[in-house]
Amino acid sequence: MTARILDGNALSATLRGELAAQAAELAARGVPPGLAVILVGDNSASAVYVRNKVAACEKVGIHSLKFAYPQDAAPETVMAKIAELNGDPKVHGILVQLPLPPQFDEKAVLEAISVGKDVDGFHAENVGRLSQGQPAYFPCTPHGVMKILEYGDIPVTGADAVVIGRSNIVGKPMAMLLTQAGATVTVCHSRTRDLAAHTRRADILVVAMGRALAIGADMVKPGATVIDVGMNRFPEGHARAGKLCGDVDFEAVKEIAGAITPVPGGVGPMTITMLLANTVESAARAAEGER
Ligand code: NAP
Repeated sequence: MTARILDGNALSATLRGELAAQAAELAARGVPPGLAVILVGDNSASAVYVRNKVAACEKVGIHSLKFAYPQDAAPETVMAKIAELNGDPKVHGILVQLPLPPQFDEKAVLEAISVGKDVDGFHAENVGRLSQGQPAYFPCTPHGVMKILEYGDIPVTGADAVVIGRSNIVGKPMAMLLTQAGATVTVCHSRTRDLAAHTRRADILVVAMGRALAIGADMVKPGATVIDVGMNRFPEGHARAGKLCGDVDFEAVKEIAGAITPVPGGVGPMTITMLLANTVESAARAAEGER
């Protein structure tokens, strides 16, 4: 049987429609949601991500401010801009596109963003709040995965979930969100001894390892839900060489999984959608005077 496709594009369109309505309502109350995006250096992938985020903001009625700095920018200049944006009531979210050039201390930059405007959810206080089960801005990619599971009617409570990857932006917060939702979670990484032994017993398998097509059908339990966070290119020699692919061998795994996200069109669009959602939520808080 072929797996049900969990369509991130369709879910994003639905959620962004709702966010546009909320943004219009906030604008009518005199609080149009605003996101400030800081881009430092000449990383071409970062420039594309920032362009996509700015375009997505405009489509739902979030006004965006973009600040671009050269590769050799002084950290003090960027820190001063963050301090200014922290105090700007028209700005409800601040995002610093990573990675930053080597002269920057990324952790210090992320900590400089006001917790209430940390719509990426990377500030240590938001991470701490997430781990304690308190309200927080959740990192956008794992938050988007939780929405895919929710709207896909995938039972999480009591499920055996396996997360491959332990990065701060995907794997670790993903494990925390699944734990919070009642799953029994195993986190695997490059030092895991027998990866397949873990993946084969997962009811929910979230793959965020950054290795093209690493997960084959023999590693997946029949009927499992497979969420592919990976964004890679098909390798040289493959019929689709150079085109976008995930960490999961989609064509093979869809024949055994119960539900699966495609790449592209799965987790990717949901990441930006959750950034928009966090920004609108921050503006709604400001409208209630809750900052
Ligand atoms: P990362 O920081 O490189 O982390 C990769 C994780 O995978 C690490 O924890 C690593 O283990 C683990 N890993 C690598 N090779 C492995 C192996 N052979 N077996 C088991 N575990 C292995 O990457 P990331 O930032 O979390 O991103 C992961 C993937 O998701 C990338 O493809 C990235 O492009 C994609 N991504 C997509 C979105 C989206 O919106 N769709 C957003 C963010 C990231 P160690 O910790 O032991 O090194």
